[in-house]
Amino acid sequence: MRLKHLERELSGLEGFEKPSPHREQYTTPPDIAARLLYHAYTRGDIGGKRICDLGSGTGILAIGAALLGASSVTGVEVDAGAIAVASRNAAKMGVSPCFIQGDLEDPDLFLRIGPHDTVVMNPPFGAQNPHADRAFVNAAIGIAPVAYGIFNEGSLPFLAGFIEGRAEIEGVIQAVLALKRTFAFHRKERKEIPVEIIIMRRIDS
Ligand code: SAH
Repeated sequence: MRLKHLERELSGLEGFEKPSPHREQYTTPPDIAARLLYHAYTRGDIGGKRICDLGSGTGILAIGAALLGASSVTGVEVDAGAIAVASRNAAKMGVSPCFIQGDLEDPDLFLRIGPHDTVVMNPPFGAQNPHADRAFVNAAIGIAPVAYGIFNEGSLPFLAGFIEGRAEIEGVIQAVLALKRTFAFHRKERKEIPVEIIIMRRIDS
């Protein structure tokens, strides 16, 4: 499947019914989701691999990974309503990721998730809930040797320090998230947020 084809497939998915600002629920735009996944795919980290999508929301990254030929896909999400939408989206696309309901702040969740080959994630940026992304980064390093995540532009120094001794930054891709107005406190109809797709590799791998 080509990049543009993947983007087109992902652009037909349903988004959050009632997005929660506290959980920073917004759907990754299809162009950025496809870019992250396709990049991982060309590096050999998707096809035939066990993929875990942390904070899978309405499922765009999990479903895209399945469409690109992952051997299995697990989505982990705290919000049961989002899992219901993700399951509908997956059925519509003819793929069947396994969605697990759980909170990444809960250390026991790791045992339920088990080891994977690759993590993909769009963690909360911590705008509403400072450091919300730390649990995601810890989980990512814990369950897979390589992780692809979307972070706010400028997160790199913090992230590099946070993972020091455990993982290394293997690549950074600049991108722009074009978000439609999601929450009442958003003043503009469309907002462009510069982001970085960051690749982290566990040191022991
Ligand atoms: N992966 C989706 C959603 C990104 S929004 C996409 O790319 O479109 C971030 C998601 O993380 C939301 O669905 C939110 O409910 C979930 N989330 C936030 N904190 C979480 C936590 N502690 N444990 C599990 N999921 C969490």
